Amino acid sequence: MNHPRNKLMQLHDAAISAKGILIFALSLWLHFSLASAGNTSGTKAIVFEQRSFPLLKLEVDYTPADARWVEDVAARTDAARRALNRIMPDALLAQVRVVIAPTKEVFLEIVGGWAEHSAAVALRTPPVPTVVINAEALRTVTPLEFSRTLLHELVHCYLGLRLKKPLPRWFEEGVAVIASGEAELEDSADVALAVLFNRTIPLREITQHFPSNAERQRLAYRQSASVVRFLMNEQGASLATLLAPFLAPDGERRISELWNPLYVEPLEYRWRRSLLSWQSWVVALSRSGLFWLLVVALTFLAWVVRKRRSAAQRREWEEEEERLYAALDEEEAKEPQVEEDDDAPRPPWYG
Ligand SMILES: [Zn+2]
Repeated sequence: MNHPRNKLMQLHDAAISAKGILIFALSLWLHFSLASAGNTSGTKAIVFEQRSFPLLKLEVDYTPADARWVEDVAARTDAARRALNRIMPDALLAQVRVVIAPTKEVFLEIVGGWAEHSAAVALRTPPVPTVVINAEALRTVTPLEFSRTLLHELVHCYLGLRLKKPLPRWFEEGVAVIASGEAELEDSADVALAVLFNRTIPLREITQHFPSNAERQRLAYRQSASVVRFLMNEQGASLATLLAPFLAPDGERRISELWNPLYVEPLEYRWRRSLLSWQSWVVALSRSGLFWLLVVALTFLAWVVRKRRSAAQRREWEEEEERLYAALDEEEAKEPQVEEDDDAPRPPWYG
């Protein structure tokens, strides 16, 4: 089944930070692509225009073909920023830049081929954090999914600005997925199934990069969100209270813990154990084909038991009836029946 959620996760952002080469490629590409009329790659040079929204602390780069939805993108980015400010320990007040890449090809040229399954990517290009949107992919998702993607990317921008040291990839993506409301029940069911069948990706394998395979990448996002949710539950914390220590003056030390196997492996063990509870089994079973097989089998069993029970009861009633009639016959034989005369006059008080 190709559920829209799966599609979104496929399109979903895959990036955290841009390495020097990507930053270099972005600026080079954005600023000089127009100048190189005889582009060596053979692709047609694309003209980017920029529109500034000073009140929203936002600038949008776009090609003329996308001019008609620049305002919508600006408004959605602003709404996402306001949502982010409500969720995070403090507000993201910095200037943000949004680049609308008109096609997947242009998008990948800007951010790099690794973002093949992404709808948007956050680049920590100093001094302005930048969100690059793959407009081709975003045209295929709903406005709600688009808004969630923007919020997700702004989480990366926010953490990039606030943290003194990068977080492990699984932790940062988990926070972004939960903050943007992308984690849903079916995702946790998928993770529970992965735990049951021992198909999870060890956290140590997703500290730097996520898998490039779309299916594994989707699991990496869901699993990351599940582990962060587990940490929130364990500490009885909201996202803001969970993040606060990492943003505090000694935050670097706390972030180091998340990179330390001595902290992460016991955490992973506790998280896996929490998913092996009976509730997880129920959820996991309800998501698998086995569940319906079980329902059909139990229904059949219930029908057979009921049928056998009612047959036994009917037999019992018949025997009882026979005994009763036999007793009555016996009585009848003993004393002659006195016939009641219905037409006999009744007393006046008789109804
Ligand atoms: Zn992300």
